[in-house]
Amino acid sequence: MTANPEIDSILQRGADGGRITPEEALLLYTEAPFHELGEAADAVRRRRHPEGIVTYLIDRNINYTNVCVTACKFCAFFRAPKHKEGWAHPIEEILHRAGEAVELGATQVMLQGGHHPDFGVAYYEHLFSSVKQEFPQLAIHSIGPSEILHMAKVDGVSIEDAVIRIKAAGLDSIAGAGAEMLPDRPRKAIAPLKESGARWLEVMAIAHRHGLSSTATMMMGTGETNFERIEHIRMIRDVQDLAVANGYSDVAVEQSHEVGGFRAFIPWTYQAENNHLKGRTQATTMEYLRFIAVSRLFFDNISHLQASWLTTGKDIGQLSLHMGVDDLGSIMLEENVISSAGAKHRSNLQELITMIRTADRIPAWRDTWYKHLAVHLTPADDPTDDRVVSHFSSIALPGGGVRKALPLVQTS
Ligand code: SF4
Repeated sequence: MTANPEIDSILQRGADGGRITPEEALLLYTEAPFHELGEAADAVRRRRHPEGIVTYLIDRNINYTNVCVTACKFCAFFRAPKHKEGWAHPIEEILHRAGEAVELGATQVMLQGGHHPDFGVAYYEHLFSSVKQEFPQLAIHSIGPSEILHMAKVDGVSIEDAVIRIKAAGLDSIAGAGAEMLPDRPRKAIAPLKESGARWLEVMAIAHRHGLSSTATMMMGTGETNFERIEHIRMIRDVQDLAVANGYSDVAVEQSHEVGGFRAFIPWTYQAENNHLKGRTQATTMEYLRFIAVSRLFFDNISHLQASWLTTGKDIGQLSLHMGVDDLGSIMLEENVISSAGAKHRSNLQELITMIRTADRIPAWRDTWYKHLAVHLTPADDPTDDRVVSHFSSIALPGGGVRKALPLVQTS
């Protein structure tokens, strides 16, 4: 109970699975007492995931190019076309990295890159079909609406055509990349050449219609207001309502690969190094944790909430497990994009599992669709492969230059 009956009533309704309005979410975000807010969000988690399981994933983010025409101000990864530090990996290199990931138990690859001026739909068809042909066991959870818009523009085809073709080529799931901040004002301030938030959501809705489910993300801390943060999740919830109403998303059958809609929401905090936006992240730990909790209460139509230990740190990632989070995301055998803007946190399989267990949750290894691959009820059930650790390669770091070989190859 709090001193404010209005806040009490909203928290109770949210905890019981009722819908809260954007105005109510803003009130909770700015005024609800921290512990009561976390307790209500945790009640949602307990109802949705009563077995107390928190999941993790093993995947690798493989970057195919850092060349990009979109020049987002917060991005430390991209290089403009013709820049001497620009690169595009041949398919052999991508397959090599995917093969290393498979050897280490990855079930997913996230192929991620810039908007290369020459990369149309055929490039992505070749990329996805090559990976799928070589490693059919890998789920391809990759690219985002911005890349789909870019490839459609390069080739002069419709978004629908691009989605149908890349799905047929092997794309299993669309990453929530490029959401940044969806409302117009903060989006234009940090990514003036990117499509609007409404357009980003339109592409997601088309993909959902074609049976591709996705995640949704949010980058906090570049100067957006509290109202704009809530507006971001309001926009996503409205599109998910559409997916649910049309039967593209159904919690009961969400593990079917043929179901669309958003499977998870993943907020993360802006990293301020090596980019044109500079400044420091303006999302404090408390703002992040409060937002996590409000998101859990607000998204009555999205199953999973993922913490971003990569940007916030492992302690805060663990704490978020008591604010409504049910998934710690990936070990990330390789990550370059957020790391090049300053995210320095790394982890490994044992550490991630320990973080979950010592937060009084049951760790479980999952696949892209949240199907449990192994539930580690006791430490005796834990996997023992100490090679499964987070890395970042040197390719996107200041100075660019030659890629350092990852130690992942020392496996056979
Ligand atoms: S965030 Fe993506 S679209 Fe924006 S500049 Fe970086 S690579 Fe390009």
